[in-house]
Amino acid sequence: MSESIESDIAFEITTSVEKIHPFTRYNFYKKIPELKMTSHLSVYRLGSTLIDTGSLPVSEPLLSLLGSQKIDRIILTHQHEDHIGGLPALLKKFPAVKIFAPEKLVDIIHKGFTVPRYRRAYWGGLQIFDGEIIAYNEDSFFEQDQFLLKAIALPGHTPYQIGFLVEYKDVMYVLSADLYIAARLPAAWMETSVPDFIDSLQTLIDLEKKTGKKLFILPTHGKILPDGAEKLQVLLSWYRKIQTNVLECSSRLKTRDYYSIFFELYKEFNHGEFRSKGELSRLNLIRGVLDPVKNLPATLLQVPET
Ligand SMILES: [Zn+2]
Repeated sequence: MSESIESDIAFEITTSVEKIHPFTRYNFYKKIPELKMTSHLSVYRLGSTLIDTGSLPVSEPLLSLLGSQKIDRIILTHQHEDHIGGLPALLKKFPAVKIFAPEKLVDIIHKGFTVPRYRRAYWGGLQIFDGEIIAYNEDSFFEQDQFLLKAIALPGHTPYQIGFLVEYKDVMYVLSADLYIAARLPAAWMETSVPDFIDSLQTLIDLEKKTGKKLFILPTHGKILPDGAEKLQVLLSWYRKIQTNVLECSSRLKTRDYYSIFFELYKEFNHGEFRSKGELSRLNLIRGVLDPVKNLPATLLQVPET
């Protein structure tokens, strides 16, 4: 099941480093010519702790950006290849590093999974990782220098995803993993739970009111969001609207059949849905409302062949 990058996928990666005190953000960019876009991925460091590792093809560039910086702890947010793919290379460079992952995701990280080809074009494949992983959960916290990384459950993108809060002066930094990728997404991954997305986003927005500290979002993909609560609110409204539309359509058609609802709401499948063979599709949004994914692995909802 071990898999490496296919030779037909070119991995030219450019990098940059941003300092967002107390974090260092390592950015990786990859052109995807077939989609005429550039994909972006970040890995965050707080002192000697890394939050996620980036993907397999970024491990060499990451090690060179780290230079002489020692890493003694890696905390993973979820199981996707662009978050854990660097584990083998990092463990080789830092043999004493301690690796932590959400308790419910440790098995799936050890087992690995085959990354579909359309997704390998973004951030490569995955090698099986059989090193030791220490389980943590949403009540855990990690001390790093004078800072505290407080775990917070952020499911929605995938069950059991965990992010981190770090308070610093009047700011609440949120390492949000893949909770926020963009304000609107053209489709959803097959592991989506819309109610969990809504709850996770609302929990963070409420935190700003509760603590009086401004939310500063540090996502894995895309720009940093100093006006975090505002941006999360846009995404939250989008999910709420989808939820309302799907529920309304389901009750009007008197069906819970994802495909009937899909054709009523969206008429036809688009290029991205065919290309990903349904892994990234609006069918997943409909299921994410009616039957939110709570367990892994999620079953694939097939997109009919053209
Ligand atoms: Zn992900």
